Amino acid sequence: MPKIAIIGGGMAGLAAATKLTQQGKQAILFEAGPNLGGRARGINYKDTRLDNGQHILLGAYHETLNLLELAGVAESAVLTRLPLSLQVRDLNSGESFVLNTNPDLPAPLHILWGLLTAKGVIAKEKWAAIRFMVWMPLNGFKLKQDQSLASLLAAHQQSPTFINRLWEPLCLAALNTPLQSASAQVFLNVLRDSFAQKKNDSDVLLAKTDLTALISEPIAAYLGKSGSEVITGAAVESITPTANGYTLQTKEQQYQFKQVILACGPHQLKSFTESLPKLTVLTEHFTYQPITTVYLQYAGNVALSAPMIGATNSLSQWVFDRGQICGQHGLIAVVISAHAPFKQTQKALAEAVTKELSTLFPQLAQPLWHKVITEKRATFSCNVALKRPKNMTAYPNFFIAGDYTDSDYPATIEGAVRSGIDAAAALN
Ligand SMILES: Cc1cc2nc3c(=O)[nH]c(=O)nc-3n(C[C@H](O)[C@H](O)[C@H](O)COP(=O)(O)OP(=O)(O)OC[C@H]3O[C@@H](n4cnc5c(N)ncnc54)[C@H](O)[C@@H]3O)c2cc1C
Repeated sequence: MPKIAIIGGGMAGLAAATKLTQQGKQAILFEAGPNLGGRARGINYKDTRLDNGQHILLGAYHETLNLLELAGVAESAVLTRLPLSLQVRDLNSGESFVLNTNPDLPAPLHILWGLLTAKGVIAKEKWAAIRFMVWMPLNGFKLKQDQSLASLLAAHQQSPTFINRLWEPLCLAALNTPLQSASAQVFLNVLRDSFAQKKNDSDVLLAKTDLTALISEPIAAYLGKSGSEVITGAAVESITPTANGYTLQTKEQQYQFKQVILACGPHQLKSFTESLPKLTVLTEHFTYQPITTVYLQYAGNVALSAPMIGATNSLSQWVFDRGQICGQHGLIAVVISAHAPFKQTQKALAEAVTKELSTLFPQLAQPLWHKVITEKRATFSCNVALKRPKNMTAYPNFFIAGDYTDSDYPATIEGAVRSGIDAAAALN
């Protein structure tokens, strides 16, 4: 049986390989890095297992959860599922915004209840937010024309405080794009899928292990058992179209394939545009946003009041207690999304974050060590009306997959997984 080439062992490539394998086909997946996972992978630091960035999954990530199930992973063994409960602390005022969904109510009433009973905003602001949330399903979560989330929120009379304490932290977490340029339509798509259908879709899922152990390793094991092959440390250096398909060249070897799924990141397409020039236009208009994760190790008895707490009017945006999440006691991960490149050193950044945390959470005094990881192109900028390419390309039997392809999701694990599945389905 002819094998199908998949280039890239991130979530999209792994999902595509799994889908093909499930259909009884055989794939060979080439991953340039030493490990699978791409932008969602575990790394070693000292004797601690970290992730390249603290990730969260949502109950609405149905395809990702299906993939894990297919690979034989029991959700409860690897993920902690928490009903949505948001706490956002204001560094300036010291006030907290608190929103707890009601587990006894169906969607979307569970979230409307949360807005009604939210603490840290006044009644007028809550009603404006509830009217906005009711307007969304009445309009099918569809805008006539995409606009920035900032302008949509202004049109719906969302107060600066509410924006600051709820909408902006959610926008940064979901779209990794500033409010002023973020696509309101993609934001509505995320709210539709997480808030409007089943109550559990809004659950927050936090990994009990690192991301490689959570997703990539079980999937690689499934692929290996089922007749497909995964080769790591194998960067594909060129892809040349031939009369019958494509020639792939790695440092070690040349391969012939009839069908190819290119599942690298959007900025990595340019490695192949010399021989496949029509790939150029697909993502040349894309821009990218970084995500920085500052890991701070405190004494083992230090903990937060919840596994995940937001911060506002601060550099720190979301603060995770990895003791509660994955048993790494005293280890705090601070996420800073969509921020202009930092001018200060990593040490100075870690010190600035440490200072903020000691104000936000007085139990966090001085860390024992820090580790700063910046992914410069963590995600594409999910800008207004961004034109995203389809899985199918101008080349026969040559498809692309990745979080950036045309879908109604922002750059997320679920978006990448769906894209991989769609690319696999498009092959015949
Ligand atoms: C710090 C950070 C935090 C994030 N937080 C979240 C979150 O909380 N929730 C969420 O859902 N998403 C989050 N994301 C986004 C999510 O991780 C990505 O959307 C997703 O992992 C993208 O997967 P992908 O397969 O599309 O691309 P990638 O992960 O980029 O995979 C592409 C793969 O292709 C490989 N490759 C490239 N060129 C070649 C070549 N020539 N030969 C062989 N292999 C090649 C790369 O090495 C890479 O492994 C976050 C991302 C980052 C960076």
